[in-house]
Formats: sequence, C-alpha cells, structure tokens
Amino acid sequence: MIILKTDEEIAVMAKAGRIARECLLRIGEMVRPGVKTKDLDRFAEDFIRSQGALPTFKGLYGFPATICTSKNEVVVHGVPGETVLEEGDIIAIDVGATYQGFVGDTAATFPVGEVSPEALKLIEVTRKALELGIEQAVVGNRIGDIGHAIETYVRRHGYSVVKDYAGHGVGRSMHEGPTVPNYGRPGTGALLRKGMVIAIEPMVNAGGSAVVTFPDMHVVTKDGSWSAHFEHTVAITENGPVCLTVV
Ligand code: MG
Repeated sequence: MIILKTDEEIAVMAKAGRIARECLLRIGEMVRPGVKTKDLDRFAEDFIRSQGALPTFKGLYGFPATICTSKNEVVVHGVPGETVLEEGDIIAIDVGATYQGFVGDTAATFPVGEVSPEALKLIEVTRKALELGIEQAVVGNRIGDIGHAIETYVRRHGYSVVKDYAGHGVGRSMHEGPTVPNYGRPGTGALLRKGMVIAIEPMVNAGGSAVVTFPDMHVVTKDGSWSAHFEHTVAITENGPVCLTVV
C-alpha cells in the first residue's frame, strides 16, 4: 500500500534519515583491515540509541542485528559477526533508524584499504546509478522511469542489476508500497505523487544478475562476482526529489 506523507511527517522522516546517514558515515570511517563486522554493528546500535532512535532492522523478519554488512560477493542482508574485513575487500553497509515512529533507510559500499580498480569502478557505477535513479523521482514520472535510468546506466558498464530484491516505499514501516525495482520500462508502473517517500537502492553485480538467498537471509551472487549497494530514502515533492538520508 502506498501511504502519502504530510510535510510534517516528512520533516520527522528527515530526522530519522539524518540519524541513519550519520551512523552510516561514521561506520565508513571505521572500515579498515582487521575490523570485525560485529564491531561495526555494536557501534551502530549504540549510536542510533544515543540519538533517541531505534535500530529498525533488529528483529525485523527475524534479522538479529542493527546493520547489514555485505562483503564482496554478498549482495545484501549480510549478518554481522566474526567476519573480518581484509585489505582489498568491499563492504556494503545498510542502516535503518526509527525516530518518532518513522524510518530512515540508507546504504553505501566502502573499500577496505586499497582495492582493485575493478572494485572501485563497481562502487562508483553503483553510486552514480543511485544518483540517476533519484533524478527520476519527480511528480508525474512513474516507478519504471527510476528503474530504467538505473539499469540503463549499469548495463552500459557491463554490470547487471539484481532483480530479486528492490527498493520500496518507506514510512512508519520500513517496507511499504510501491516496490521500486532497479529495472523497468519508462512510463510504466505506479505514478509518482507528492508525499510519496521511497527508498531507492541499486544492487549491482559485476557479473550476472542471479542471486542465491541463504536461510539466515544473506544474499550472494550466483556466479560469485562482487556486488555493490547504495541507498537513499527520498521524498517526492513539488520541488523535485528531496533526499532525507543526508547529514
Ligand atoms: Mg531498503
């Protein structure tokens, strides 16, 4: 179901978004060889609670942690634990914070120490794909315009978008309508209206688009290729897209 938000609600969502983003950026500064993903998770939970917010993901669908830590061939929903970051890895971090009942959802992929030019390019293409998707989040466009912009750019670089997982509406629940796929045909899908808030989140594989999901929820590429993930929570307003997950 698509639930439109008032300006007042969007203002609260911007606070949730700022907390999630600040958490994400601080984790980005902690990313280095030798760090365990469980240490990043502990920091995230402490930080989010210190801001008067709650860790959105913890307990959601049974997920046990505050953040998702998805390394290399892990696409999304990596579970923090004893995994150690090593020089040359890439690590996608996804953060959700709930503030005064509203959710902010944001993700980014970070290099661990020095990484290969190929890995850096995958990160950069995914980041740019998100930017291009956000540009399409304007009143009068349709959901398919967002996915089309993302997939066209990704394919031009020889990569593929994950089709089994998608962005989503966000509000009092982390997952509301509409679904926001990272592919689509222009002019198709739900009409974008003022007051919609959506999480746009390209998941980009260096190889094929097929993925495998494990019982603990973590998702990996079927061909073992590396994958990157970026996400912002975006409000659709009369003045264009407004990114709520910014500091
Ligand atoms: Mg999301």
